[in-house]
Amino acid sequence: MIRELRHRLVKLFIWAQMLLVSAVVVTGGLYALALLLENRFLLGLVQSPAMTLSATLFALIALLWLSGFILRITLRIVFRKRTVSLDLRERLGKIGPETLQRMGLNLKVRFLVRRRSSNAYNGKNRILVGEKFLQQSTDDELRGIIGHEIGHIVKKDNIVKVIWTLIPSLTLGIALGLLIGLSHGQAESAFVPLMTGIGALLLSGIPLNWRMEYRADRFAAEHLGTDVVVRALSRLKTLHFGGFSFSHPPLSRRIRRLQQG
Ligand SMILES: [Zn+2]
Repeated sequence: MIRELRHRLVKLFIWAQMLLVSAVVVTGGLYALALLLENRFLLGLVQSPAMTLSATLFALIALLWLSGFILRITLRIVFRKRTVSLDLRERLGKIGPETLQRMGLNLKVRFLVRRRSSNAYNGKNRILVGEKFLQQSTDDELRGIIGHEIGHIVKKDNIVKVIWTLIPSLTLGIALGLLIGLSHGQAESAFVPLMTGIGALLLSGIPLNWRMEYRADRFAAEHLGTDVVVRALSRLKTLHFGGFSFSHPPLSRRIRRLQQG
């Protein structure tokens, strides 16, 4: 019940973020256009909403970053004495390499348990599986989630994400410099396009991120069987927020796509 409510709140919050980012991109885009065309009428019209929306997005990003940082530190202090049970570590240490073998892959990957988490993550040559997922899942469900993360590693999705962020960021920096020049160095003229650029970057990353998720699902399904991955995602749905986000498509849609083949 509490989980249901929490997931509803997360969904509402993500919708609000999407709307805010879209509004920033639209008003900020018009603002930049007015600057470029030196159109005073359009500038007068969009300046105030563009500034307010950009400031709201900036405050939201700063607040999320700061609260996340404080929460992480607090949890680390509170739970510093609690270690992950040996059973869970051993289980992951056994099923992880075994999954790689089943997939016919010769990769050097370390398998680690992530405390208090119900999800799974990947980094450079390592896969982290949440403690809660490990506690609640069957061996097949665990294999499915590991297979998905292996898919990300094999397809080098993290590197693609860095490149995808770096190139537009550089372009954004250059465009910003030009705009500051055009607006005779006014601070707010730079702030609005900066937030617009960040918003555009966030929105443009959605199709790429979602495609990577579908691809990792498919990769796992091809190597482990569709049923294993569907079961893993269904388990994840009972533990973790299953709706869409900037980084992930809804779990129900991922499951449907796998089942449709
Ligand atoms: Zn993924």
